[in-house]
Amino acid sequence: FMLEKSAKIFVAGHRGLVGSAIVRKLQDQGFTNLVLRTHSELDLTSQSDVESFFATEKPVYVILAAAKVGGIHANNTYPADFIGVNLQIQTNVIHSAYTHGVKKLLFLGSSCIYPKFAPQPIPESALLTGPLEPTNEWYAIAKIAGIKMCQAYRLQHQWDAISGMPTNLYGQNDNFHPENSHVLPALMRRFHEAKANNADEVVVWGSGSPLREFLHVDDLADACVFLMDQYSGFEHVNVGSGVEVTIKELAELVKEVVGFKGKLVWDTTKPDGTPRKLMDSSKLASLGWTPKISLKDGLSQTYEWYLENVVQKK
Ligand code: GDP
Repeated sequence: FMLEKSAKIFVAGHRGLVGSAIVRKLQDQGFTNLVLRTHSELDLTSQSDVESFFATEKPVYVILAAAKVGGIHANNTYPADFIGVNLQIQTNVIHSAYTHGVKKLLFLGSSCIYPKFAPQPIPESALLTGPLEPTNEWYAIAKIAGIKMCQAYRLQHQWDAISGMPTNLYGQNDNFHPENSHVLPALMRRFHEAKANNADEVVVWGSGSPLREFLHVDDLADACVFLMDQYSGFEHVNVGSGVEVTIKELAELVKEVVGFKGKLVWDTTKPDGTPRKLMDSSKLASLGWTPKISLKDGLSQTYEWYLENVVQKK
């Protein structure tokens, strides 16, 4: 293991879906010196605050999991936030980390960086080969800039900045907002509330035909620690599960896990987004990492967490 257990690691975004999973994983593996800041303690969009944080704390490793994220509706409604906030956060953190002697940084992106009609499964080399999916291009452009920044700092400064591109993620600490969340938590909540209210039907957006790949966030966290430890390449690395379902199949699965007995109604006035985005994760597999959590197990685990932490705390 290259990473020392006592190494000072700054996990940016530790309250989010991804950051919180990374913190759990690092703690499980015996890392004792994590540096964490809530949004109110450190505003990552403020260049001067980020600068003084790095100057004072001097972390040795950085995992950049802080981002403004959301589903298809949120991306369409807040395009300025999705491009602006993300560019600010990542630029501030990457530059200050470099300036203050951080040894290695992991930047996290998303599968939406790839062209709408990329070959499937999508290899890393598909980046910047065609137009993006319009419903999330603002977020995608910010994330592409982050990958390129890591590459540019590596080239110009021989600095060890790497990027991981996860597929659609889910798990505990996800955002369960009815409109602004991603499909999986949105459906989990809608089925749960429909069941609680004895409703006959649940509305699902779009046609149900788009295909999506889902990875449990605990698997992603494991992959992140693996990459921090084992990978120092120029190119970003896809992190997927290889398991693809249609939105209709996903809806049926979530319905079953939640135990809702009514029927599904499709609201085709809502956008489908990209038809398919399956990542080619063979590069990560060849480095020696594969996912462990099945979609069925991951869904049950997430629903249990939702019941204990969201429903009971209301
Ligand atoms: P995307 O992967 O970037 O398109 O993000 P989403 O997770 O928001 O949406 C994935 C797919 O699920 C799209 O085809 C949506 O139309 C569909 N979908 C169905 N119901 C919902 C819902 O309640 N919320 C969201 N966000 N998407 C939904």
